[in-house]
Amino acid sequence: MKITRREFLTATGAAALAAGLPARAWSQATIQAGGVRIDSLSDGNLTLPGNFIFGPAPQDELAELLRGYGYDAIPSRITPPCNVTLLRDGANTVLFDAGSGPAFQSSAGLLGEALGEIGVAPEDVTHVIFTHGHPDHLWGLLDDFDEPVFYEATHMIGRTEFDYWSDPDTVNNIGEARASFAVGARRRLETLGADGFTLFDGESELLPGVLAIPTFGHSPGHYSFALAAEGRQVLVAGDAITNGHMAFERPDWPSGSDQDLEMGARTRARLLDRIVAEDMTLIGYHIERPGIGRAERLSGGRYRFIAL
Ligand SMILES: [Zn+2]
Repeated sequence: MKITRREFLTATGAAALAAGLPARAWSQATIQAGGVRIDSLSDGNLTLPGNFIFGPAPQDELAELLRGYGYDAIPSRITPPCNVTLLRDGANTVLFDAGSGPAFQSSAGLLGEALGEIGVAPEDVTHVIFTHGHPDHLWGLLDDFDEPVFYEATHMIGRTEFDYWSDPDTVNNIGEARASFAVGARRRLETLGADGFTLFDGESELLPGVLAIPTFGHSPGHYSFALAAEGRQVLVAGDAITNGHMAFERPDWPSGSDQDLEMGARTRARLLDRIVAEDMTLIGYHIERPGIGRAERLSGGRYRFIAL
């Protein structure tokens, strides 16, 4: 298994840089294993209040933990990257999540350009498989005209997740902070319609070499996916593990980004145990670009992320 990584600016990015505007940089990392190629592509990044992740954690211990990662204080603002995974095995071209699209945050929604950089056109994508229904993963499903971006693709999502975001009551029960998530998800799922999705349950093989693993908690029906790559497994963790520091060192701590704090923590601990037991490489959607690495087990249920 060979991993290469490159960072690049497009011509427009270079021009923006020359004009003193923020550059638009994409990062891409590639895992090549036999006939399988897996790319981590950047959709850009989000801008969130630090409390969105760190709010429920024990603050004194958290501050100490973060100092070990070079943070003087608990950050008031965080800018996590969005790493979309693309699998190509010669038969299928599979995207795991569709990014944010044009309507969520201006710093995200760049997946189309990142795909263009590696010569993949929207119609080349045969499957879009969603980890969950949050905006930075689902909203890139549709373009500005509410047409499917990947119009030749089969769209797949876990049944629990589909049912949750399709339920008209979700907007009333989800809480104020995520009410817009509910409205946006339902509209997008309805635009494609129930016939527009292939739904799946349990732990099951969706395509040859693509195993769906339920990792509920971050959202009610969140999924991760284990990809077979020449005898090894590459885990698309999605948001079951949302950062390279707290989530590994204290998977048991509640993360404000999880809709169900307790279930999210239990799932994270169980998944990390499996990642180590099965010696998986992992790709984290919001782990620092390009989000690829492995987990090392420390003592006392703690882990460390080792970037590759
Ligand atoms: Zn996310």
